[in-house]
Amino acid sequence: MSIPSTCDVLIIGSGAGGLSAAITAAAGGNVLVIEAADKLGGAAAYSGGQIWAGLTDAARAAGIADSRQEVEAYLDWLSEGTADLRLRDVFIDRGPDAIRFLPEHGVPIAVVRSSPDRHPTAEARRRREQVTMAVAREFATGTASTQDLNPTWGKALMEIVASGDLSPVDAMSADQMAAETGNSAHEVRTWVAAFSALGQAGPSAVDYSFYRPIRDYIGGFGVMAARTP
Ligand SMILES: Cc1cc2nc3c(=O)[nH]c(=O)nc-3n(C[C@H](O)[C@H](O)[C@H](O)COP(=O)(O)OP(=O)(O)OC[C@H]3O[C@@H](n4cnc5c(N)ncnc54)[C@H](O)[C@@H]3O)c2cc1C
Repeated sequence: MSIPSTCDVLIIGSGAGGLSAAITAAAGGNVLVIEAADKLGGAAAYSGGQIWAGLTDAARAAGIADSRQEVEAYLDWLSEGTADLRLRDVFIDRGPDAIRFLPEHGVPIAVVRSSPDRHPTAEARRRREQVTMAVAREFATGTASTQDLNPTWGKALMEIVASGDLSPVDAMSADQMAAETGNSAHEVRTWVAAFSALGQAGPSAVDYSFYRPIRDYIGGFGVMAARTP
C-alpha cells in the first residue's frame, strides 16, 4: 500500500480519539491516519464501545428524559465531588454535540437501555435487579429471546483447557467464539488466559472439575482445580 507523502493533518494513532479527530479534520483538508498496530481502532477495537453522555438528542428521541440538574448530580456523585467543575460543565455542554456529530458523519450509534452502569444509584440498581430477575425467569421457562446456554461447549472447553493443548481455542476467530459462547466470551477468554499462564509455569494436572448449567442463574458454572507437581 502506498502512503501519501503529504497531507494537511497527520493523525498518529487510530484510537477513538484519533479517528474522531480525523473525521473532524476531514472537513478542512486531507487527513492521513497512521497506526502502529496491525488493527484499526486502538483500545476501542476491544472495548465495550459504550459512551456515557447526558442530555443527548439520541436519548431524547428514545424517550429518555434527563435534566441538566440530574446529569450534574450524577457526575458529582460518581466523582465524589472531586471533579473540576469547569471540565464537568464542558463535558455536559459539548457531549451532546459530539454524540450528534458522530452519526451525522457515518458513525452509527444506538441507545443502550440496559447498560451496566458500574456505579448505579439505588434506584438504578433496583431496576437492574428487576430486569435480571425477569430474564432469569424467562431462561428458566425456556422463553428467553437471548442466546441459550451451551453446556456442550462449556464441557468441551473444560476438556480443552484441562488437556493443556489450547490450540483449538487459539484457532477460533472472535466471531466463532461469540457464536459458541454468546455473552460469556469474556469469561471464556479469561479461562484460556488463566490456563495459558498455568502452562507457562510447567506441567499441571486437573484433579477436580465440575460443570453445571443453571438456567435460573442464566449461566453455566464450571470449576476446575489444577495442581502443579
Ligand atoms: C476491554 C475494554 C472495554 C472498554 N469499554 C469501554 C466502554 O464501554 N466505554 C468507554 O467509554 N470506554 C471503554 N474502554 C476504554 C476506552 O476504550 C479507551 O479509553 C479509549 O478507546 C481510548 O481511546 P484513545 O484514542 O484515547 O487511545 P487508544 O485507543 O489507546 O489509541 C491510541 C492508538 O495509537 C496507536 N499508537 C500509539 N503509538 C503510535 C505511534 N507511535 N505511531 C502510530 N500509532 C501509534 C495505538 O496503537 C492505538 O491504536 C474500554 C477499554 C477496554 C480495554
